Amino acid sequence: MDFNEDFLQKPITAIKGIGPKKADKFNKMGIHSVKELLYSFPRDYEDRRNVKPITEVLDNEPALILGKVIKISKSNFVRNRKQILSLWVEDDSGKIDIIFFNATYYLKTFERGKSYYFYGKGSFSHGKKQMVHPDFSETDTEEMKGLIPVYPLTEGMTQNERRKIQRKVMLHVEEIDEYLPSKTLSRNRLCGIQYALEAIHFPNTLESLKEARYRLVFEELFFLQTGLFMIKSKIQTGKAGFAFSKESVDPFISQLPFSLTISQQKVMDEMSKDMESSKVTNRLIQGDVGSGKTVIAAVAVYKAVISSYQAVLMAPTEILARQHFETFKEFFKSFSFRIEFLSKSIPLKEKRQLFLDLQSGKIDLLIGTHAVIQENVVFQKLGLVITDEQHRFGVNQRAALAEKGLRPEVLVMTATPIPRTLALILYGDLDISLITELPPGRKDIKTNSIPSSDRLKAYERVLEEVGKGRQAYIVAPLIEDSESSDVKSVESLYDELKIFFKDHKVAVIHGNLKQAEKEKLMDCFIKEEIHILISTVLIEVGINVPNATVMVVENSERFGLAQLHQLRGRVGRGAHQSYCLLIFASNNEIAKERMSIMEETNNGFLIAEKDLDIRGPGEFFGTRQHGIPELKTANLFKHIRILKQVQVESNILLGEDPFLLQEDNEKAKVRIALLFKKMDNFSI
Ligand code: ADP
Ligand code: MG
Repeated sequence: MDFNEDFLQKPITAIKGIGPKKADKFNKMGIHSVKELLYSFPRDYEDRRNVKPITEVLDNEPALILGKVIKISKSNFVRNRKQILSLWVEDDSGKIDIIFFNATYYLKTFERGKSYYFYGKGSFSHGKKQMVHPDFSETDTEEMKGLIPVYPLTEGMTQNERRKIQRKVMLHVEEIDEYLPSKTLSRNRLCGIQYALEAIHFPNTLESLKEARYRLVFEELFFLQTGLFMIKSKIQTGKAGFAFSKESVDPFISQLPFSLTISQQKVMDEMSKDMESSKVTNRLIQGDVGSGKTVIAAVAVYKAVISSYQAVLMAPTEILARQHFETFKEFFKSFSFRIEFLSKSIPLKEKRQLFLDLQSGKIDLLIGTHAVIQENVVFQKLGLVITDEQHRFGVNQRAALAEKGLRPEVLVMTATPIPRTLALILYGDLDISLITELPPGRKDIKTNSIPSSDRLKAYERVLEEVGKGRQAYIVAPLIEDSESSDVKSVESLYDELKIFFKDHKVAVIHGNLKQAEKEKLMDCFIKEEIHILISTVLIEVGINVPNATVMVVENSERFGLAQLHQLRGRVGRGAHQSYCLLIFASNNEIAKERMSIMEETNNGFLIAEKDLDIRGPGEFFGTRQHGIPELKTANLFKHIRILKQVQVESNILLGEDPFLLQEDNEKAKVRIALLFKKMDNFSI
């Protein structure tokens, strides 16, 4: 690897002035190498471009002033025995008090009659203008005046220290060679990397900052997108997609115990159309919890199987996969389809037979966890892949399938709305179908938030419902109590509640149990041998037990809104009135606001939007779970326009040089390879 990647990969102690102690602090912030330091950008900038007259200093607003010290005085702060230094500072327009709390240290710093620059927030105290602990300097150095970067800090590090170090690192900028193709730079009018790095840290003007930011966002999206396009083209080489039979699906639909909603029919038609065409289709089916996505998946399976293809259904948890297995067996009981189940917990001997039968095409539908698309699983004629309740099935798994020479139709079912940009990046060619209504006769779930001091009320409701023969879920964030917090655990809840519900059968389920144990518990719950199931979020997705009518969530302030909505979706699946009781142990405003949103609406899409609004995109949709690298500078919500430009550029570049073999493109290729190196199943 050339172009000074060696230097960039060195530990930050290679920079003069960073010893082991300072390095430690940076390491804590995830900054280890010179490159990481160079690429850890300011989170904000202080606008200190203009000196303000002192009269124009406003309360609670930062300002840069230049004033003469008229008087220096020291006073004692009785309570904590601290001494205060106060400077009477004047310019032509007025006066201000500059306050420092550790007088002895600053006493020697200032001289009466001299002028200084001060930068800080203005405040008013007893009718007097003040500035407490401002930055100051005798001259208008570049540290004092201009656009000044504000960096993220860690304990024991000051902003000024950090700025100094970042300035030192800038000395090494010259050692970085441009790595974007020159054609890409000129086609998109991007500034060079050295300029961009200088200007993102220490901009001379707002314009240069803008240019720098644009280039850096562009580059990040460009590497990501170009890499994904390269993987995708690997997926798309070879045969055309499958065209499924146009034969009617009525034989399947007409034997269902219910008729499809108008919305389900619409989605089914959209889906059927592209399954019957020869283009490879990737369709995302979005529909709120309980909207009936599973039966749509079954229609797709039916189409695949009557067209003599095999189908596979993946679910994120084993419990959910098993439940689907039961549901699909029931759906297809009057057809002679062979349906099998696969997960890690299947004994080896059984697995071997199953693999043989898959390979010889004896199995029509395979249902399971991720295990179903792993290396040693070989299909005879795979035509359809369905994934439920997860978005992790991105390009990487599709690439894995493509490597087996397979290009099946792909259906992704989700109750979590995926932002457009993310969908664009992940799928590009993705079609979206929406199920917009719930099956008829559903009663709205009544939701109440309950402060933890009243939590007994929630359990009285549970008692009432189980007394009527219904069942309940109780969810808590932790498995065991932890010393460091008073967040509820399922273990302690069990100890408490088995006494409260002594006439009923109570059980605990969580991720640390053996698979067989979990299954047995779920099975007992389905058979109504267990009335109250205490659980971690294990049961969050997809579980369908229509007799369950109460969902209690302890410490609900700890869960995201979309997650609470998923949990709530575990009840209200039958004919009975259902309840969701959200116990919360926090008085903070955001927590309260979130609880009231849950009380007000049952609409998952609305909830997701509000969640996004309150928590911001970073929290809401970590990109990690989608199998794509984390973005540092670019934001998939904000930068959709840049992304579109990036996509145009990537397509042009790959059109000219599909494998990036030209000299001008070599460095970009190395960057892309580095970016994707951390990901499983990826190679470019
Ligand atoms: P989700 O979209 O959350 O995956 P499911 O597919 O599990 O929802 O459906 C929830 C419940 O609604 C299931 O019990 C299913 O059998 C039932 N259901 C689905 N479609 C209809 C319909 N058109 N009419 C009545 N019940 C339906
Ligand atoms: Mg579902």
